Amino acid sequence: MNSAIEKNLKSIREKIKQAACKGGQKEEGIRIIAVTKNVDVARILAAIKAGITDIGENKAQEVIKKHTKLGDKKSVCCHFVGHLQRNKVKMIIDFVDLIQSVDSLKLVEEIDKRAREIAKIQEILVQVNIAEEEAKFGLEKGEVERFLREIGSLDNVKVKGLMNVAPLVEDVQKVKPVFSEMKMLYDDLRRKRIPGIELEYLSMGMSNDFEVAVEFGANMVRVGRGIFATTS
Ligand SMILES: *Cc1c(COP(=O)(O)O)cnc(C)c1O
Repeated sequence: MNSAIEKNLKSIREKIKQAACKGGQKEEGIRIIAVTKNVDVARILAAIKAGITDIGENKAQEVIKKHTKLGDKKSVCCHFVGHLQRNKVKMIIDFVDLIQSVDSLKLVEEIDKRAREIAKIQEILVQVNIAEEEAKFGLEKGEVERFLREIGSLDNVKVKGLMNVAPLVEDVQKVKPVFSEMKMLYDDLRRKRIPGIELEYLSMGMSNDFEVAVEFGANMVRVGRGIFATTS
């Protein structure tokens, strides 16, 4: 089983390398987040052994449960990628390095408050619903700049970039405009040098579309099934 994870990772790294090259990026600059939802601790440890340094969860309970079991794996960064309810912030704030799914002022204020209580500066990404899908979380494109200007002055929150979940489509070529629009928004906001905001990460791309995402400028990809699914 471990070797399946190693094999998957090797193939993903190879694809990222090619996509990066195509998009004019350096592959070393691209961070792979292994999304470990529904993955048990043994397999997470196997992925860490295979070189994974970042893991992502989408449920607060799972973060807590796995953190205690991963024990001394402090060198691994923990990302929160799912929709986060305000009343769960307190539960996870001790354990997460990057909350990728921030999409409201109320949520970011709660994060700031809870981070202050434990003397932490919490790094976050702002989630953007660029394709404006009804059922998706995230700010609309036109709201992002104002949002960043509003939260740039919070002392215990540090914005590190933008995140997007692309629509699920059968033909992955169809999501190209979504990634392209995200990259343009990201570049535009970077150029504006908004006070207190450090746009360093553009998190987009999952198992089915990470290659296209990287080609269009993602420097953080979130891959779950592609790493942990056993194909044979
Ligand atoms: C589950 C999930 C992923 C990973 O999805 P896969 O298709 O398994 O690669 C990435 N991002 C978010 C927000 C997720 O919930």
